[in-house]
Amino acid sequence: DSIKPFEGKEGSKKEQVADMFNQIAHRYDFLNRFLSAGIDVGWRKKAIKQLAGLQPATLLDVATGTADVALMAKNMLPSLQQVTGIDISDGMLELGRKKIADRQLSNSIQLFNGDSEAINFPDASFDAITVAFGVRNFAHLEKGLSEMLRVLKPGGKVVILEFSKPSLPGVKGLYNLYTKTVAPGAGGFIAGNKAAYKYLNDSIQAFPEGNQFVEIMKKCGYVSTYKKPLSLGICTIYCGSKS
Ligand code: SAM
Repeated sequence: DSIKPFEGKEGSKKEQVADMFNQIAHRYDFLNRFLSAGIDVGWRKKAIKQLAGLQPATLLDVATGTADVALMAKNMLPSLQQVTGIDISDGMLELGRKKIADRQLSNSIQLFNGDSEAINFPDASFDAITVAFGVRNFAHLEKGLSEMLRVLKPGGKVVILEFSKPSLPGVKGLYNLYTKTVAPGAGGFIAGNKAAYKYLNDSIQAFPEGNQFVEIMKKCGYVSTYKKPLSLGICTIYCGSKS
């Protein structure tokens, strides 16, 4: 599962992914809003809503990036006392910390450099875990899913938001045109990194989705799993709990 977003660059998938996000970090939030015409905000909100009934006090946002989900969750879930975000890209974390400080939330939201495949927290540390557009980038998906289950408290819930591929024929054609041509073009023009946005498309094409993804969660030990496709299947929310 090796990726080569930067020609001539050696290193593991993890190092390449961290490098790639360091390079596009300064344009990341803008490109998210621009490429999804703002719909990504609604997707993140729907994902966080899956936690409303649980009333979590502690949340870990894995692959937090620029902390959009961490901030939104703190805002949407009044039960939350402490939000922790981890990511392997210091460039993304730096921007996230700035957003948190601007909103004077540095006491309740903290970001650390941390790897989803070796989470630096003891077993059963968090009531809930979120990952938005992160699992697709993991070098080893099952390792990441198992680590998240380990640090989750019994009764706790994981919410995963990830791209999927729409199946309706008309939508499929437009979607392919968009992800294969428009997004890499805009990514090249705006973030100066066409390869990163080509990687976005390649990684979506290769990634397990729908029931296949739910089966992987079950195999890793999650219970009460379910999925919710959004926007004609462009995105899917996957949830699972710890027994
Ligand atoms: N969750 C944020 C959001 O919703 O905008 C950021 C998503 S961004 C597409 C993916 C993030 O995953 C990047 O910031 C990248 O550095 C991070 N990432 C990739 N592999 C990781 C890993 N093994 N552990 C932690 N973070 C990882």
